[in-house]
Amino acid sequence: MRHRLAHLFSLFVAPLLLAAGVLFVIAFDLLPESLARFVDITVWLFALIGALLTLSYARTRNFFALLFVFLTYQVMIKAIHLPATQGSDFYVAPATAYNLLSFLLPLLLVINSLWVERFHLLQDLLLRFLVFGLVLIISVAIGHRFPAEVNQLFNPVYFPNIYIEQLGLPQLSMLTFLAALCILFIQLLLNPQPYFAAQWVALCAMVLVLPNFHVNYAPALVTSLALVMLSMAVLHEAFQMAFRDDLTGLPGRRALNERLQRLGRNYAIAMSDVDKFKVFNDTYGHDLGDQVLQMVAAQLKRVSGGGKAYRYGGEEFTLVFPGKTAEQAKPHLEKLRIAIENYQVKLRDESSRPEKDKEGKKKRSNGGKDWVSVTISMGIAERGPKLGSPEEVIKAADEALYKAKSAGRNQIALAK
Ligand code: GH3
Ligand code: MG
Ligand code: MG
Repeated sequence: MRHRLAHLFSLFVAPLLLAAGVLFVIAFDLLPESLARFVDITVWLFALIGALLTLSYARTRNFFALLFVFLTYQVMIKAIHLPATQGSDFYVAPATAYNLLSFLLPLLLVINSLWVERFHLLQDLLLRFLVFGLVLIISVAIGHRFPAEVNQLFNPVYFPNIYIEQLGLPQLSMLTFLAALCILFIQLLLNPQPYFAAQWVALCAMVLVLPNFHVNYAPALVTSLALVMLSMAVLHEAFQMAFRDDLTGLPGRRALNERLQRLGRNYAIAMSDVDKFKVFNDTYGHDLGDQVLQMVAAQLKRVSGGGKAYRYGGEEFTLVFPGKTAEQAKPHLEKLRIAIENYQVKLRDESSRPEKDKEGKKKRSNGGKDWVSVTISMGIAERGPKLGSPEEVIKAADEALYKAKSAGRNQIALAK
């Protein structure tokens, strides 16, 4: 739970810092005149970079979130600065445009984000373009033909008790924004990904800036901010993909190698390996084997004493203890070994267990219990006069692990 919260929080750090910076600049009017003139170009620039990024990573959802934010900006700027388009068939009076937009932005963002990317990239893009395009065309048509009716719908304050006048949003839109933020937050809790966090902060920023579109460079700056956050989420996810192991959520081998380069003069490294895991897989099936690895990883992630766990590969995990000797790290590892030994893994789906193994023998039963447990063995080594590099320490820890295995498993051995 603590780790989940910490992870959730970590997703918000970059977007919130960025947002705070931008708000600071706007609140104290810190942008020099010479730069403020070019701020409109930054919206185009970030939209373009974002579009290229999201599309090259096949992230249609992020792409459309960017598009909605970008369009909102363009429509608001045009509605305010270009009343000359009045004659055209697409003309929507600024007040009506504002009402519709403040309602559509949160709505479309939520639909887009609930709509899971599952088709081929091009199909997914086309389908979204079609659906969202249709919604937009219908909205423009309604805004053009029935502006009075639209305004009548948006102007009333339906619930005076919960109306925040200072926000400057029609209450209908405010409620839509609120609902959108709730839905996106639930989505984020269920699926803690950078994209949902970025979208949440971007939507908050847009809520605040929508009623302030006439305030010099604020809209362009906030829109740029939202575009940068949404683009950064794609990079963040790509980074996670490269450095985080998908099955266990632990950092993987690449992250470990990176960490090993930055270790100080004193550290201990432990190698751990699940005991008799091949037999476990053969007995209970690969899926339960995967669940066990997830459980083991979850336990190792909770390591105390300043240690950090990595998935080395397969059923092997590495724990790095900066600033510790092997002797000092041992009690922390002992706690993990016991926690894993005592953990009862539920045997849920009986039918998924393979009945027979490759030789055709009947599988071991589990004495009627509806749970199983596994054990791990570990070897620890520390940097010292004989072991100068992380690679040598890992090798020594591996040899110690081998000793623990041959001494009967479910134990920890120190490298000599
Ligand atoms: P020992 O106690 O000596 O370590 O015996 P062992 O059977 O655990 O050792 P071995 O290295 O022979 O077997 C490792 C097994 O781990 C083989 C493979 O089926 C399993 N394994 C490796 N990666 C995964 C994985 O991602 N998921 C599952 N379910 N099994 C895995
Ligand atoms: Mg192994
Ligand atoms: Mg093993």
